[in-house]
Amino acid sequence: MTVNDPSSTSLQLTDDGQLRHFLTLDGLNRALLTEILDTADSFIEVGERSIKKVPLLRGRTVVNLFFESSTRTRSTFELAAKRLSADVLNLDISTSATSKGESLSDTLLNLEAMASDMFVVRHSQSGAPHFIAESVTPGVAIINAGDGRHAHPTQAMLDMLTIRQHKGRFEGLKVAIVGDVLHSRVARSQIRALNELGAAEVRVIAPATLLPRDVESLGCSIEYDMVRGMKNLDVVIMLRLQKERMEGALLPSEREFYRLYGLSREKLALADAECIVMHPGPINRGVEIESAVADGPQSVILNQVTNGIAIRMAVMSMAMGGQMAERTRRQAGRARV
Ligand code: ASP
Repeated sequence: MTVNDPSSTSLQLTDDGQLRHFLTLDGLNRALLTEILDTADSFIEVGERSIKKVPLLRGRTVVNLFFESSTRTRSTFELAAKRLSADVLNLDISTSATSKGESLSDTLLNLEAMASDMFVVRHSQSGAPHFIAESVTPGVAIINAGDGRHAHPTQAMLDMLTIRQHKGRFEGLKVAIVGDVLHSRVARSQIRALNELGAAEVRVIAPATLLPRDVESLGCSIEYDMVRGMKNLDVVIMLRLQKERMEGALLPSEREFYRLYGLSREKLALADAECIVMHPGPINRGVEIESAVADGPQSVILNQVTNGIAIRMAVMSMAMGGQMAERTRRQAGRARV
């Protein structure tokens, strides 16, 4: 399977175009992305109530299946599921039977036997959530929480929600994504979302060693010089240097990287005065971003985290809705026979 397989569109959408899995932003059109943002907007208010719950997933079981470490994504998926009133099972893979040699398929069969309704999956292999969605029992929704270098669609959508909140639109925006694009599933999903939603320009700023070979085909312009690249920006998204995924020496040194590509106050001053600063986290202060910028007035990094809950509530409730509609159609079909 290739991870950009067009079959992912038919896999993640029902016949009438509703979401039933959420694996990638590839193949999702502007109307559906906007529906996700609007649904998330409606859930923001839930997070501001004293009783932060709606009954949309009451009686449903959501399994958080994280084969790779995570702080923000795992905890906001858990909070999102709980705010939708689901029962949540967090499977710690390092202490589960996977570490005793059980295959992914066997782990899943056992979890399905516990009548789970949704798996939220993070995996180091690109395409793992797609593979699971292909084989899972009908009615069970799969949500991608980040797979290898491929995609991190809920991260990109929470970033889009944050941009829309601060800029009010996508049309005409100039957005730069800076740093380790090569290893970033976040960047791939962001570029896709920004293009579909109508941004005027998506610019990646990175040394050639940290750009993927297929960068030209992703739908972005390329700039190797950050001082040139910061001009006229509305949004700058910094990426973490993913040292755990690096093979060989891709960088001269962290100091040199920071000098050339770190977001300092001086470099931020080159952008539009209203430019917002984003980062998917975890941030490495002094490696890709100066503390004074990360904590400064233009930073919306913590808004991104808050928005993660609303976006994940939106995606989970929409996928469950699609699965339910499909189940009703299947049952109606069987009744007619
Ligand atoms: N948290 C993001 C991810 O899971 C970005 C990162 O780890 O740097 O891909």
